[in-house]
Amino acid sequence: MAMLEINNLTTQFSTENGAVKAVRDVSLYVEKGEVLGIVGESGSGKSQTMFSTMGLLAANGKVVNGSIKLDGKEISPLSFKTNKEYESTMDDIRGNDMAMIFQDPMTFLNPTLKIETQLVEPIINHNPGISKAEAKKRAIELMKKVGIPSPESRISQYPHQFSGGMRQRIIIAIALACNPKVIIADEPTTALDVTIQAQVLDLIASLKDTIDSSIIMITHDLGVVASICDRIAIMYGGKIVETGTAEEIFYNSKHPYTKGLLECIANPEEERKKLHPIPGSPPDLLSVSDECPFVDRCEKAMKICKIKMNEYKKYSETHSCSCWLSHEMASGKGEE
Ligand code: ADP
Ligand code: MG
Repeated sequence: MAMLEINNLTTQFSTENGAVKAVRDVSLYVEKGEVLGIVGESGSGKSQTMFSTMGLLAANGKVVNGSIKLDGKEISPLSFKTNKEYESTMDDIRGNDMAMIFQDPMTFLNPTLKIETQLVEPIINHNPGISKAEAKKRAIELMKKVGIPSPESRISQYPHQFSGGMRQRIIIAIALACNPKVIIADEPTTALDVTIQAQVLDLIASLKDTIDSSIIMITHDLGVVASICDRIAIMYGGKIVETGTAEEIFYNSKHPYTKGLLECIANPEEERKKLHPIPGSPPDLLSVSDECPFVDRCEKAMKICKIKMNEYKKYSETHSCSCWLSHEMASGKGEE
């Protein structure tokens, strides 16, 4: 059984101009201890998929369809009788079962409190009866685990005394303090410079083997997830267009958008890094319909793509993709 399983999730925002269809019929799952990457360019609905899951949507946002199961338990807002019941359940889940790591650690850290306070508190909350001294000892162990040097002295410092990369490590330590079932990391390294980004990714990759939490890693950069994800879901225009193991996505991708993203990744073997951005811009989520979201940017688009998106075709137990090029009548055009 999947640790987190989302089926047909649809989330909309009401605005003056109409409904923004940010998440459209999204289905995905992450197994226990697995790392799932959700990849797509900015505005494709990655964060809102996870905010819908965590109950963190903005006031004008609403889940209008779908099921969200955490460890077998249905937690979609649609499944609760009252909003109050939903909010109190989610408060509990956010503190215990699911933790989120954001791009900017300062949105999460309290600048006026020492790291000790911010780290010891969740440890005490999760281990009723633990002494303060013992909680501090565990906090120091966690800081060590996430690679913060001299944790014994640094634990009494304030967030601003840490670099961006070190702050992100503190956030990861706080997330680990709850021993959550699922950790959602939303662009955790995007704000960091390249070297530090690599170090934080290495840390996440190494944690993968020492904790049994499932991790969902959200990024706009397919290159970032290559080394740490077991499976990858490619998202575009509020839809998942392709999903597969890292190997299936990197070596046997089917969707033209996935292929475009792969071309965007600089080839390390090349001396001069060449970038191939995909021309065009994402669809306007106010006016999307049944058509394939990628149709206007796709070099291989056919008439049918304008009418509706294809069903998902299964290439393996783990690999599926929605694209008309897989249709037998389209063969020849799609094969390269
Ligand atoms: P990303 O893939 O970059 O994480 P998001 O999930 O944040 O994208 O956003 C998906 C879409 O939802 C975007 O078009 C964004 O403008 C829209 N959106 C997000 N929050 C709101 C809101 N409060 N009101 C209206 N539209 C929103
Ligand atoms: Mg986002």
